[in-house]
Amino acid sequence: MASILDGVAIALAIKQEVAQEVRALAAQGIRPGLAAVLVGNVPASEIYVRSKVQTCAELGIYSDLITPPENTTTEALLELVASLNSRDSIDGILIQLPLPSHIDSKILLDAVSPGKDVDGLHPVNAGRLQAGRPALAPCTPAGVIEILKRSGIPIASRHAVVVGRSDIVGKPAAMLLLQQNATVTICHSKTRDLGAITRQADILVAAIGRPGFITPEMVNPGATIIDVGINRINTRKEFDHFFAGNARREASFVTRGSTIVGDVHPAAFKLAGAYTPVPGGVGPLTIAMLMSNTVRAAKLRRGL
Ligand code: NDP
Repeated sequence: MASILDGVAIALAIKQEVAQEVRALAAQGIRPGLAAVLVGNVPASEIYVRSKVQTCAELGIYSDLITPPENTTTEALLELVASLNSRDSIDGILIQLPLPSHIDSKILLDAVSPGKDVDGLHPVNAGRLQAGRPALAPCTPAGVIEILKRSGIPIASRHAVVVGRSDIVGKPAAMLLLQQNATVTICHSKTRDLGAITRQADILVAAIGRPGFITPEMVNPGATIIDVGINRINTRKEFDHFFAGNARREASFVTRGSTIVGDVHPAAFKLAGAYTPVPGGVGPLTIAMLMSNTVRAAKLRRGL
């Protein structure tokens, strides 16, 4: 029977450790601070950012939620970032994505001081990660490593196959796995015979953005499957395709009119040695690692 890797419990443990570090810093008169920039009114982004701000409060981290209107400009946001870069009470700057299409996201993310780049998206941090130097790593892939390590799943010498090569998830996940001495293969939309490669994986990381894309035939029996995907489905046809006969899911689907499925078909999990469920797997780690990165940035900035 496949074992379930409990992201909620692992995230809780990390948050408790972060809270302890925050208390230790408080004894030295230091309070880590996070600025969260939420542009416009995207309901999903509002939920994410509010939950990040609330977690800061729970852990004793100072936070400042800044909400420029939808019609703000790249120039105005660059000024805001410049002021946050120089604000001493701010150790981490989070710019919630996606930004409105008229904003130049790249220029804006590049303007964040690398030392305050708690999302790990600045090219300087991406370069440091690749060079094996201390870096603020993107939160979701950092969470993937925490799940594997804290669940006692060996990484060194294992074949890790990462499907997806985004700057936010796929590429940094591959770099972090390489740092842990896995043999890493990165796959993407132009990969030929994807299933032949994923079937070789001891650790399979799916970060594709397509509901249930990894099917049972693509899985090496006994592999550890890390499903990063978060896809909302809201039709009965989709629901039945993934969850027919799952009474618990059925009840929540009927109540809410939608449910979440990862990038791995639930039937594929049955072949795994261990897997992260969706929800409750990788998702909770993202905020926990953001908190951890904020405290790390606070320490690094002060040479601690
Ligand atoms: P992107 O859309 O940026 O990247 C998707 C990647 O998947 C691309 O590299 C793309 O390849 C690859 N891909 C797409 N189609 C195929 C295919 N048919 N075969 C092989 N590879 C394919 O997505 P993200 O990396 O931002 O996110 C991935 C998933 O993770 C999403 O479901 C997202 O919601 C979720 N996510 C979850 C988070 C969490 O907290 N748990 C945080 C961030 C994301 P190519 O480069 O060739 O186009």
